[in-house]
Amino acid sequence: MQLHTLDLNFLNTPRAIASYVLVGPESAALIETGPGSCLQTALAGLRHLGIAPADVRDVLVTHIHLDHAGAAGWWARQGATIHVHPLGAPHLIDPSKLLTSAQRIYGDQMDYLWGEFLSAPVERVHIVNDGDTITAAGVEISAIETTGHARHHHTYRIGDIAFTGDSAGIRLPGSEYAVVPAPPPEFDLEAWEATVSRLAALDLKTIYPTHFGAVNDPAEHFRRYAPLVRECAEFIRARMEQGLTRDPIVEQYGAWHEERAEAAGLNAAMREHYNRVFNPDMGVDGIMRYWGKRKG
Ligand SMILES: [Zn+2]
Repeated sequence: MQLHTLDLNFLNTPRAIASYVLVGPESAALIETGPGSCLQTALAGLRHLGIAPADVRDVLVTHIHLDHAGAAGWWARQGATIHVHPLGAPHLIDPSKLLTSAQRIYGDQMDYLWGEFLSAPVERVHIVNDGDTITAAGVEISAIETTGHARHHHTYRIGDIAFTGDSAGIRLPGSEYAVVPAPPPEFDLEAWEATVSRLAALDLKTIYPTHFGAVNDPAEHFRRYAPLVRECAEFIRARMEQGLTRDPIVEQYGAWHEERAEAAGLNAAMREHYNRVFNPDMGVDGIMRYWGKRKG
């Protein structure tokens, strides 16, 4: 099996969203499709590898957020089997609810950002439960439920490597700095802490976050990442307890991230790259919602 990283060049930003290609003796598989807006880039990347759409028999999505699974319906309509968490499957078959809630966040930017999100024919959707094994591109891939970022999140492991979606956070090439993507409505601190422990215990050699590319020091990454999820959540809780509303929290949370990035030694270009890929404002909404629910 060969593994390739496709850079989907999301909104002309390289190294923002990856799709991983597994090439086996008889077929290929994708892990993550990227959004519909990146489909042509994905197809061009595959063509460059000598892979036709019909060669892609299996598509695994870590979760159904638009940047990870937006083009899954298109692939399903080409005949690929889409492997997905049980809580994600209904939204691939009927994306209307998912799209309505995304529309509330992105408004008239929806199409520009995400392109078309086609429904997947039900017979092309294969539900994968925690611990299940799939054979795709000639290799065995096991699903590990990794919630916290979303309730419908799996990590896919092949031997000592794993495709972590968003569950190991966002870490961009050329830095050790990581950030916590915590969009509403499913951020869950305890679940995410359990996920990081679970991933760390796998003793992996390399992980492949969707944002972006190989991380070759997973043990060290998880050691730093585990407390960070709580730190982000507590940063916001403390300000909620002071009676601050969303906007000042957004401002302070953004400023704190700038400080963290600088303290981590990121140069201006790297900080700019992180700012293009990661939106801390959304984390404020996700984490405030989490604490609000806990209180109520
Ligand atoms: Zn996500």
